[in-house]
Amino acid sequence: MKNESQSTALTRQRSTAVRGTVVKGVMVGWMLIQSILMSTPAISQTRDSLSYSELLKKIDAGEVAKVEIDEAQRVAKVRLEGKTKDAPIDVQILDRNPELIERLRSRNVDFDSQPTSDNSLVLGLVANLLLVMLLIGGLLMILRRSSSSSSGPGQAMNFGKSRARFQMEAKTGVLFDDVAGIEEAKEELQEVVTFLKKPERFTAVGARIPKGVLLVGAPGTGKTLLAKAIAGEAGVPFFSISGSEFVEMFVGVGASRVRDLFKKAKENAPCIIFIDEIDAVGRQRGTGIGGGNDEREQTLNQLLTEMDGFEGNAGIIIIAATNRPDVLDSALLRPGRFDRQIIVDLPTYKGRLKILEVHARNKKLSDEISLDAVARRTPGFSGAELANLLNEAAILTARRRKDAITPLEIDDAIDRVIAGMERAPLMDSKRKRLIAYHEVGHAIVATLLKNHDPVQKVTLVPRGQALGITWFTPDEEQGLTSRSQILAQVTSALGGRAAEEIIFGDDEITTGASGDIQQVTSMVRQMVTRFGMSDLGNLALETSNDEVFLGRSLMPRSEYSEELAGKIDQQVQVIAQHCYTDACRLVRENRVLIDRLVDTLLDQETIEGDQFRKMVEEHRQNQSVAVGS
Ligand code: ADP
Ligand code: ZN
Repeated sequence: MKNESQSTALTRQRSTAVRGTVVKGVMVGWMLIQSILMSTPAISQTRDSLSYSELLKKIDAGEVAKVEIDEAQRVAKVRLEGKTKDAPIDVQILDRNPELIERLRSRNVDFDSQPTSDNSLVLGLVANLLLVMLLIGGLLMILRRSSSSSSGPGQAMNFGKSRARFQMEAKTGVLFDDVAGIEEAKEELQEVVTFLKKPERFTAVGARIPKGVLLVGAPGTGKTLLAKAIAGEAGVPFFSISGSEFVEMFVGVGASRVRDLFKKAKENAPCIIFIDEIDAVGRQRGTGIGGGNDEREQTLNQLLTEMDGFEGNAGIIIIAATNRPDVLDSALLRPGRFDRQIIVDLPTYKGRLKILEVHARNKKLSDEISLDAVARRTPGFSGAELANLLNEAAILTARRRKDAITPLEIDDAIDRVIAGMERAPLMDSKRKRLIAYHEVGHAIVATLLKNHDPVQKVTLVPRGQALGITWFTPDEEQGLTSRSQILAQVTSALGGRAAEEIIFGDDEITTGASGDIQQVTSMVRQMVTRFGMSDLGNLALETSNDEVFLGRSLMPRSEYSEELAGKIDQQVQVIAQHCYTDACRLVRENRVLIDRLVDTLLDQETIEGDQFRKMVEEHRQNQSVAVGS
């Protein structure tokens, strides 16, 4: 029952970062587990057990395939029918076993009897020997590596050196044409291509070619793609590594990786070095929460040293990406290092259209699809999300065995990317009725308020966490939002709960509105503390709180007195209550219309925006006729 406004921030998970550490963790874990098992071999053999009498029963039942009798140890190793590949089950037997043998004979079970010597001691000895050898082997390996690494002290545990953790692409095959919608960034970077291709042009007049460019922007906005495009346009190799891969559990590994990377790059100059997530290594030194991090600082120092260590015209340009420039160590941003910063923004409507065009190139789209409409429906989407969207649509098309992607698949893909997987429709029930009223409550309040975005559709098909969803088409990005628009959003977000309460009564309201209420609280709170839209006046009382300043300083969360805090809470309450009263009034005044809309919704599962507005309009006309007559 989410009142899903489409600017919902989409989270993207990055999983590239931890790979290196995990492998090592697994190695260490593996050695430990192995050693415990091997030094106590008995443990692994007595998992299943049978008593003597159970064994006799099983033989009678014909469930036993094979028995080996070990007289010396008074153990029978039993293999059951159908499980002959499993380890045998040990059964304690008596001194002499005439009846066992008799039974085995009469049932024709394969058996043999051999007085073996007690070999468990030998086994244990072998296991322990193996363990010792393993340990010695491991030690030797470590020693060999540390003596072969020439890179000074602190390298004894250098596991990382031999395994290159950076990727090199001789040809990226990406061109500026493949990057769309971020024109300013592209223009600025055009110049870098010239630095790489014709450095003489700059050095001849005494210009110093920049060494480092910092790309700043949210994940998925195309920073990696841009860097690759520079390499592709200039026809130079592309080295890439992620900042988090520098930072390892062994001190010194990160620094040695930096050294390796630059060594390789120098051999291949001119080239591009791309460092993704540079904030993972480049945080301000000496202020880390929970103590400093020697390893990270060493790595960062090494990076700075390397950057200073070559001339600007050496033909290496380092491009780093981050979305947290505020936490970077100031030393990184000094002239001669990353002195150029380029912002890579989320694309605007026009940008999204261009990105969609780029990714539609290799896809079959039916003629009815208007990429323009898709671009309008997707504010807040990054380039990566748009690419993903078209890909999802293509997958759906293939699954439905169609020849080309139709608007239906695009629609489903957008819904899926924003709200999650579609789930089976709810069974008819009182609960479904309540959900229908809740969603119609959102939609009707939004439609009746003049400052609200139009309803795109209302649906009872559950998706992701939501049992029903009301979608709105956001108005084209005006950039600014007015107070009345925010109030309209708050009121329609409360429309769901208002409908629940008025139609079903105080006792029947549900937890389904919790998401709405959270959204409302956050919007109203920002009105009071950030936008100066309450009786408290134009005070900025809180900074945007979606960023935790880990690196530089710990911002005090609030910079106001207890007394003011109380007033803020009071204002939030007043505004929210006012909107709720409004929503309730609208629901009460339009009860007949709402009933009709709910019936239609239960019948159709989904009402499209146009149909919704038409029904509202028809009702209005009927009413005015009724009043007029
Ligand atoms: P970032 O490095 O900013 O996290 P990426 O460059 O890795 O983002 O983007 C991932 C993918 O998303 C790209 O490979 C590309 O397919 C698509 N993409 C992102 N931005 C754009 C863009 N501006 N133009 C075209 N495709 C884009
Ligand atoms: Zn809701």
